[in-house]
Amino acid sequence: MKLLMHLSALPDAHHYRSFADLAAAQREGEHYTVTVGHRPGARAAVLAPHGGRIEDGTSEIARSIAADEHHLYLLEGRRFSHNYHTLHLTSHRFDEPRCLSLLAHAERVVAVHGCRGEHRRVYLGGRDEIFAARVAQHLRARDVETVTGDHPFPGRHVHNICNRGRHGKGIQLEITHPLRRSAQASDVVEAVRDALAEILSMNISGENGDAPSL
Ligand SMILES: [Zn+2]
Repeated sequence: MKLLMHLSALPDAHHYRSFADLAAAQREGEHYTVTVGHRPGARAAVLAPHGGRIEDGTSEIARSIAADEHHLYLLEGRRFSHNYHTLHLTSHRFDEPRCLSLLAHAERVVAVHGCRGEHRRVYLGGRDEIFAARVAQHLRARDVETVTGDHPFPGRHVHNICNRGRHGKGIQLEITHPLRRSAQASDVVEAVRDALAEILSMNISGENGDAPSL
């Protein structure tokens, strides 16, 4: 009973319509932090919009994928408890201004998320299908179970933060908790880094052929 009363007194992230609502309800520097790693000349961005204690392990994975090469953006929960409840601004409402300005110049976008599940698994979504297919290939080559179609995390909404790069499309990885917490997480990092290196070096234009239809 005490817990229920406590929860109802907290802001509920389900009601946030945009980042402005989150910012009005929670204090930056205390409840959450924002990290922007701008790498001059980089053409890809890696994000963990639900990092820190919101979807635990996603910040570390995003940082490792970005390394010193790709732009990095993290919004990290720092609360002692109730991070998901108070800070999980859903992806298609995620419009934090520093994130949007970083993405404006990114040709390829990777958003890293965490989901529940009993098995070690990655659900791949987003509108950048060519890039997603490459990531899937590299994940499977490393024996990471990968689901690409017909799953609960399609990430197709045009406002989904993963699709707000320069070409209006990107990918998102929903990584189950057991996978995030296993040594296999480094295989996910390597797979995405290899797929990114490949697609950037091939210079496949994000603008041609597979642009999202309106
Ligand atoms: Zn998420």
